[in-house]
Amino acid sequence: MKYKSVNNFIGEELLEGGGEKLEVVSPIDGSIISELFLSSADAVDRAVQTAKAAFPSWSNTPIKERVQVFFRYKRLLEENMDELTKLVQEENGKTYDEAKAEILKSAELTEFACSMPQLVSGELLEVSKGVECRVEHFPLGVVASISPFNFPNMVPNWTIPNALVLGNTMILKPSELVPLSANRIAELLRDAGLPKGVFNVVHGAQEAVEAICDHPDIDAVTFVGSTRVAKIVYKRAASKLKRVLALGGAKNHLIVLPDANVAMTASNVAASMSGCAGQRCMAASAMVAVGNVDKIIEQICEEARKIIPGKNLGAIISAKAKERIENYITEAENDGAKILVDGRNCKVEGKENGFYVGPTVIDYVRPEMKIAKEEVFGPVLSIIRAKNVDEAINIENSSDYGNAAAVFTQSGGLARYVADRASAGMIGVNIGVPVPREPFSFGGWNDSRFGVGDITGKSSIQFWTKLKKITTKWNPESQVNWMS
Ligand code: NAD
Repeated sequence: MKYKSVNNFIGEELLEGGGEKLEVVSPIDGSIISELFLSSADAVDRAVQTAKAAFPSWSNTPIKERVQVFFRYKRLLEENMDELTKLVQEENGKTYDEAKAEILKSAELTEFACSMPQLVSGELLEVSKGVECRVEHFPLGVVASISPFNFPNMVPNWTIPNALVLGNTMILKPSELVPLSANRIAELLRDAGLPKGVFNVVHGAQEAVEAICDHPDIDAVTFVGSTRVAKIVYKRAASKLKRVLALGGAKNHLIVLPDANVAMTASNVAASMSGCAGQRCMAASAMVAVGNVDKIIEQICEEARKIIPGKNLGAIISAKAKERIENYITEAENDGAKILVDGRNCKVEGKENGFYVGPTVIDYVRPEMKIAKEEVFGPVLSIIRAKNVDEAINIENSSDYGNAAAVFTQSGGLARYVADRASAGMIGVNIGVPVPREPFSFGGWNDSRFGVGDITGKSSIQFWTKLKKITTKWNPESQVNWMS
């Protein structure tokens, strides 16, 4: 094994989770690169007690001092960019450039957190003669962040810098499929000067997550992952009266109108469906082709054929996930859809034990087919034909999900028409992956997000803090009035 066993990182100590052993497999070539022991409820409790002990001192440190740690952390992310990139690549299987984009985004997220002192200065108003009311943000306490496999470095950094700069202490529970990046994040935070116990990592799966949801000393939980688990976590943690934000899966529709620019649309759609091997919640999963856009479809297929697995297309996370994706394609074919580019049965020379699916483009998918409704999470584009823009909007609106949607057109009026009516939290106009960059916040609608507000940006301030309203009066000569 290339890496030692991955242990929990609790108060800077490395402790075994205590449960079942799990191998960490690199999707690139199927090799076992490490192992971990799933955490029990006891291991979670130990991390919570550590984070709880660290809270009074950290939360009493002025924000302008707390933020200094994150200026240093951002520099460490940048100085270690190549190593962090390769680690993501190895455990997740994405390409070098995709993995590097993750670390760059983590640095951007940290940069935003470093601006927090400017954003959270309170409000103050003389509310009646001689009486002032001021509002201050207070941290919640111990918070937990549960993350998925597809962005081992970036998704944890959606929550870590903001929550910690705002004075909370944290338990991170990364995906058990990609545990290595989480511990490197913990090491970098330690090296940046974060006090012991403020940030802890607990490795594990269902048992650890359930223990987090149930733990009486955890005040808030964020979750990013599939909708199935998002619903479980949201309900379970909320039933224990915690603040919860749970981001789920996606089925993003790109609506392509006949006046769309051919080259720009084709390259955007192909990149959106194949980037990170389609394993991202912002991936184009369905393209709604309005009227005759055959030229664009031809060009998308040409672009797709230039995407080579193992070269400019990364791996799928596991053999099971590869099989699931291929089953969707086969079922669509059996139901009468037409496969224009077929990525099944893909092998990469020299990496025969890796898990790869080539880019796949399927035309004449009908809205009632399974592949049109469910999240595929692979480099697969389903093309659904629509007669006009309203039919296209209806197709988009009928999805249970609502993470992102996009429209491709040269008409500003039509773009606005679709943007107004699409039922999704993030909309692209001639952009296939409309991730809002900082300071704009990230979050979907419908079954793609449960809870209030978004997970990043200014919206996250509300989630990570509670408000204290302080009313003061120091002038005895001022008369008492009806509310002072
Ligand atoms: P997942 O739901 O399988 O796992 C997410 C986390 O939940 C992991 O830490 C895992 O250990 C834990 N978990 C898994 N099963 C559990 C159970 N039964 N009970 C309690 N905890 C459990 O998701 P994944 O496969 O790691 O990630 C892919 C999914 O994440 C996709 O659906 C993708 O769309 C979604 N995702 C969404 C966003 C977003 O912003 N909305 C971002 C990234 C990924």
